[in-house]
Amino acid sequence: MKIRDKQFAVVGLGRFGLSVCQELADAGAQVLAVDVNEEKVKAATQFVTQAVVANCTLEDTVAELKLSDYDMVMVSIGEDVNASILTTLVMKESGVKSVWVKASDKFHSKILQKIGADHIIMPERDMGVRVARKMLDKRVLEFQELGSNLAMTEVVIGSRLMGKTIGQLSLCQNDEIQVLGFKRGPEIIKNPGLDKVMEIGDMLIVAGPKDVLMAKLKSL
Ligand code: ATP
Repeated sequence: MKIRDKQFAVVGLGRFGLSVCQELADAGAQVLAVDVNEEKVKAATQFVTQAVVANCTLEDTVAELKLSDYDMVMVSIGEDVNASILTTLVMKESGVKSVWVKASDKFHSKILQKIGADHIIMPERDMGVRVARKMLDKRVLEFQELGSNLAMTEVVIGSRLMGKTIGQLSLCQNDEIQVLGFKRGPEIIKNPGLDKVMEIGDMLIVAGPKDVLMAKLKSL
């Protein structure tokens, strides 16, 4: 099914819900935006297919909006945990195929799991994990100047690069860059083979022109 044939609904148009609507609409999908607050609905009308003022804790509303015909419904009601739980329950009982729900904490998430939410998002936690992974992926310990614009550095392998071989790194596909060593725990291998598979926390010692190294490390 093409994206433009997919029907999404987003219930609750806080900052999170609104940005979900915007991204889906930008991708060309059909989006129904729903909120009890008229102002919030007005803000969404400019970019979604349809925007409606309605209370989704009511079975009749969910039936009237024909939400069970949608491919996916996102419930992004944050502050009012009762409304979020009730809305999710009504959706599942009305036969909505796939209900994604934003949870504010682990207790909220546990209840959502019990009542059958298909996917639970905890934005702050999920984003924290993602940022930490990105930080690990980008972690470079130090640059040691070798003169004549040459430098040496150590690169720590994060989650994004684990499972790849040294030869698969774009960094190592550059003729000007040399992999001098490979560290895993206390073990150090000089001139490792390009077919060595990397694990999280491994370290590569690489050398080359400083500007080339910096550019390559940015895109790692
Ligand atoms: P943000 O996403 O900005 O961090 P938040 O997670 O705290 O905000 P809320 O401020 O609770 O989310 O916003 C969720 C939206 O859900 C509000 O605009 C609110 O009007 C709406 N809402 C609350 N109850 C219902 C309901 N029963 N049906 C539809 N919309 C609802």
